[in-house]
Amino acid sequence: MAISIRKGAQRLGLQTNTVRSDVSCSEADDSVLDLSIHTIYNDEPKNDTQLSASNVQPATPHTWVNWVGNQQSSPTAIFHPSTLGELQSIVFQARQAHKRIRCVASTFSMSSISKTNDYLVDTKFLSTIYRPTFDLEKTLWTVHVQSGVSIKALDDYLRKHDPPLAMASNILIESVLYGGIIATGAHGANINGRCLSDQLTEISIVDGAGTLQTFNAYKDAVEFSAACVNLGLLGIIYTLTLKVVPMANSRYHALDYKVPYHQLFDPLQKECGQRLKKLVQENASIQLLYFPFNNTGNCRCNDFVIIKTLNPTPELPTNHLRFPKLHHWMVNQELFHRIAKIVVVDLLPYWPSWSPLVTRMIYRYTPILNCVQEIPDAVHFMKNLERFPTWLVEFSMKCDEDHDYVNIIRAWDHVAQMVYETANEWHEYPLNVAMEARFNKASSCIMSPMYDEDPEALFFSIELVSGKNTQGFLEFSEMIAKIWMEQYGGL
Ligand SMILES: Cc1cc2nc3c(=O)[nH]c(=O)nc-3n(C[C@H](O)[C@H](O)[C@H](O)COP(=O)(O)OP(=O)(O)OC[C@H]3O[C@@H](n4cnc5c(N)ncnc54)[C@H](O)[C@@H]3O)c2cc1C
Repeated sequence: MAISIRKGAQRLGLQTNTVRSDVSCSEADDSVLDLSIHTIYNDEPKNDTQLSASNVQPATPHTWVNWVGNQQSSPTAIFHPSTLGELQSIVFQARQAHKRIRCVASTFSMSSISKTNDYLVDTKFLSTIYRPTFDLEKTLWTVHVQSGVSIKALDDYLRKHDPPLAMASNILIESVLYGGIIATGAHGANINGRCLSDQLTEISIVDGAGTLQTFNAYKDAVEFSAACVNLGLLGIIYTLTLKVVPMANSRYHALDYKVPYHQLFDPLQKECGQRLKKLVQENASIQLLYFPFNNTGNCRCNDFVIIKTLNPTPELPTNHLRFPKLHHWMVNQELFHRIAKIVVVDLLPYWPSWSPLVTRMIYRYTPILNCVQEIPDAVHFMKNLERFPTWLVEFSMKCDEDHDYVNIIRAWDHVAQMVYETANEWHEYPLNVAMEARFNKASSCIMSPMYDEDPEALFFSIELVSGKNTQGFLEFSEMIAKIWMEQYGGL
């Protein structure tokens, strides 16, 4: 079979010598090829001549499942393309066979956004990173990548570049692929970072006719703003051009601290909104973390909220050489997330009444930082998060500037109040990890939940996080989503 695959690849003119960021250079080209053209069928009656392009090979029956395991489907075929020619060939086959195409990146989305019983295109072998370029006129560095490049692969590549470069803002987890986070309008905690799609200057998409369409932020601003956050509906994203910044004089000072809950989220105190406004004015990046039941007593009013801030600094990264092993162990967080998985995912569903104890422990062991870090280290301060499968629900809401952010304070407090009520009255614990929030300025991408015509409009994105399999989380988050949408402008 390997020989026929190789011949097929030669016919298609596959590039077997391209550097791929997630395939080790020591691997033989053949194995790269085998993987990149591997296709899996389910047990649907199949006609091999119908799927006859040389980048398709039948394999064992298979069901597609997303990372957290709550979505699955049985695609007729799963493709693993690595070149533009292969993408176009898949589109032509789909047209001939009257099949629809969905793409998948790292499968982290919890929704049914990638689900299909037709053709699924797995993009992880579209992983080429091209040399960054500097535009003298715009004094701007950009890097051009294929859509299957992961955040970590690009971070590592840019660190080694001369001069070292970085994405100024990014999402928390490193293993996701750019196609997935651009298509969904994902965002980091940097206020001016907006959503990641706002950090693009160009996007190219293979459309339903197999034609490569390119949209440029400066040449076709309107089409570009519609094309970036596309939920995978406009075609297969082939390449992206991302803005990056030089790291030499721009590192982040990470400063974390704990604030009593009622100082930030008491809807009856006007000062709370003013404190939040001040936080936004004084910091480049803010993330709020709330682990319920983190203090004694049966009320949220005794709890604390962790504030994580990042601000640019020319200072060198803090030297931890006195305890390098301990530092590495803490930064890696692999053990922490493995333990969290066992406790929260494997045990809590059977003993939910331990939830207050568990969230208090997570709160206590969350590192409180005061150090200077290189941009990628500061942005991705939680490593190996993928070891800990969680259910997540996030909504963005525009801050009510005229009324001291009262809508976002109420939206947050409504959840905390319900968490305590559910625990005290029903002994149920649907939120057993954290509530988390970030501020971002408006996105210019039409399909982003943070879209606004006023670029200075500020959005607050709140997220509920519980372990996979948590009893009552789905019902609870559905109820909260309704409240956020109906009462506080949640999108
Ligand atoms: C632990 C964890 C932490 C997270 N942290 C954050 C965070 O900090 N900020 C944030 O905003 N979000 C965060 N998310 C959500 C995450 O950003 C989104 O779920 C994102 O879509 C995941 O990317 P993915 O590579 O897994 O995409 P997938 O889930 O695989 O795909 C998402 C969508 O993109 C489409 N797509 C992917 N590639 C292509 C392509 N090449 N062409 C066309 N369409 C494509 C797919 O069809 C699908 O519709 C987090 C999720 C998890 C599980």
